[in-house]
Amino acid sequence: MPEIPDLEAVRRYLKPRLEDQPITSTAAPIPWIVRTGADGLEDLVGHQFVDILRHGKYLLFNVDDGRVLVVNAMLTGRFHWDEAGAKKPGRLAVVFGIGDEHELRYSDMRRMGRFYLTDPDHLDVIPQFPKMGPDVLAIDEEEFTALIAKRRGQIKNTLTNQEFVAGIGNAYSDEILWEARLHPHRKRSTMDDDDIHNLYEAIHTILDRSCAILDEIVHNEGLGKKAEWREHLSVHRKADEPCPRCGTPIKGQTRSGSETNYCVQCQPLFA
Ligand SMILES: [Zn+2]
Repeated sequence: MPEIPDLEAVRRYLKPRLEDQPITSTAAPIPWIVRTGADGLEDLVGHQFVDILRHGKYLLFNVDDGRVLVVNAMLTGRFHWDEAGAKKPGRLAVVFGIGDEHELRYSDMRRMGRFYLTDPDHLDVIPQFPKMGPDVLAIDEEEFTALIAKRRGQIKNTLTNQEFVAGIGNAYSDEILWEARLHPHRKRSTMDDDDIHNLYEAIHTILDRSCAILDEIVHNEGLGKKAEWREHLSVHRKADEPCPRCGTPIKGQTRSGSETNYCVQCQPLFA
């Protein structure tokens, strides 16, 4: 599932390309992906996307008439920036003609992604959206410390809980906890001030570094080849490979289909 660095790479790639370009056509070959405002989709023609924001795992395309197109790409949603007339990707779900030469396309192999065209005062039509916590990159250490003080459970579950903070999923929680030397099953209640500080720092270190790496990949490759980029990760999906820090084989645990990876040496359960 795309997480902050994947979505930031898409956002930063598309933003300058959409600026000052009118939407010249719209189409939804898989119509039910558009859950709200589908009948207003063609009214976007003649308007522009003036900005792209991100909140957690959602991308928000602001339209010049005040509406907003909110996209949750879920597991396999991908954006493509193609020349008009280029070969279409499989499972093409939504298409916007941009200017005379390009198309912003969205494909989704598992067709689980969702589009909502609404106005900013009605984001509550989007399931889960109103319950979402602040974007993890939008809060400072003081806010983070205050929010995490209310949590008691295992730290990996907390980090990936979008009602706590939004944007971190299974892959980057493994990377962040490895960087902070915290065991994923560690209870928040056993963590001291230094642990919380290290965790906050690790979130920014890992996400900043990954955003820079992905920006460069997407700059070179363009959009559409992948929904997520994982090659640069240190421990996630690296079970049995040596820990990049100490050489101990990385542990892999699978629970209800999602894998957790960590180093038993660098991330002891009891500090
Ligand atoms: Zn290690």
